[in-house]
Amino acid sequence: MPIDNSLVREAKSVIDDNQTPQAPTGTHDLMPPESARWESLLGLFANLSHRYSFGLVHTPMFEDVRVFQRGIGEVSEVVSKEMYEFTDRGGRHYALRPEGTASIVRAFVQHRPTTPFRAWYATPSFRYERPQAGRYRQHHQVGVEVLGSDDADIDVEVIALAQRFFEGLGLKSFTLSLNSMGDGACRPQYVEMLRSFLAEHQADLCEEHAKVYAINPLRVLDCKKDACQEVTEKGPFLEDVLCGECHDHLARVEEGLRQEGISFIRSPRLVRGFDYYTRTTFEFASDALEGAQNAIGGGGRYDGLVESLGGPPTPGIGFGIGIERVLLACDAEGVFVVESLPPVAFVVDATGGDQARRITASLRAFGISVDRAYDQRSMKAQFKAADRSGAALALVVGDDELASNSVTVRPLRTQDEQITITLEELFERVRKTGRIL
Ligand SMILES: [Zn+2]
Ligand SMILES: [Zn+2]
Repeated sequence: MPIDNSLVREAKSVIDDNQTPQAPTGTHDLMPPESARWESLLGLFANLSHRYSFGLVHTPMFEDVRVFQRGIGEVSEVVSKEMYEFTDRGGRHYALRPEGTASIVRAFVQHRPTTPFRAWYATPSFRYERPQAGRYRQHHQVGVEVLGSDDADIDVEVIALAQRFFEGLGLKSFTLSLNSMGDGACRPQYVEMLRSFLAEHQADLCEEHAKVYAINPLRVLDCKKDACQEVTEKGPFLEDVLCGECHDHLARVEEGLRQEGISFIRSPRLVRGFDYYTRTTFEFASDALEGAQNAIGGGGRYDGLVESLGGPPTPGIGFGIGIERVLLACDAEGVFVVESLPPVAFVVDATGGDQARRITASLRAFGISVDRAYDQRSMKAQFKAADRSGAALALVVGDDELASNSVTVRPLRTQDEQITITLEELFERVRKTGRIL
């Protein structure tokens, strides 16, 4: 029997007595300097969300498993095969969040905020899938949801926010695909058309869909196999049978995007399989990433989702963006290179540390980033640490400085002369100018 490598890897990740603990398979530790990029990315997203008048929502990392079963669909791959489920000590059946939307909708149903409710989030999410590049068992998402309006202008705003975010990261090679899923008035009829069309071509479908196409014919449109794609190319498309309202909605979204200067392609294959997805659906794909792993974000309208979680009929729309995947796209394009910022100054105190304590505390209170040496190390060791920190300036306290309550400001990265000033002068200068030199 061939050896399944994934099982070998798994076995290795189990901790035994002779091994130091490792992060769980399919997860990663985020640490400096890489984390500086995340800080910057999250700041950019928070800033944009604020500009578009979204408020931050944090929900628990785990929910009653039914939130995801109803909110994503019990038969979906994610819910049936990939969820981390557990029973707590009180016997409650929970699951770790596999995506961002269901929890926000659950919170909306619970708290009934005024509408339109505009939420943004940044969250880890958990899926038990085979680890590979850009796919993790704990990955991270940013996203937005708007609940309580079916105005097409909101669709435009939501798509525009995602677009501006990608642009803000410096990405250039990406494509926006747009489609309409129709609604309760026009989609059922289309699904029937598609089902009977697929029945006629059943023998030509891929192995899987030849068997199951009838259960959810929309899924076949989404199939990446050549066989299914060849069949559906000739098939009926939803855009040809959209009802008047869905047609007008889509037209207004398209017009809004054009007005925003956002280019898009109409993609009849872009479908989402569940009944509560309606009308607008969209996806951003990076041209710099390979094949099936090139989606960097996507979303759409879900005018039936709130009801499926026990709320009143409420339209909604949102998107999710995978942070790890987006950063892969940034790497592929060579953009969004973020250096972690070193401290501005590093205090070198050869007189015991009291002055170092005072200087760091005061400068930090003025908003200056400062580091210092500890453990009463030698002057030489302290200067080494100052150099390693990347700080532009060393603030040196020796016996002379201690006696005159002053500090010597020594540039570490330039040939500029060092100066000695009293602490009073130093703090006054920082208070006035926000700078040390
Ligand atoms: Zn197929
Ligand atoms: Zn319709």
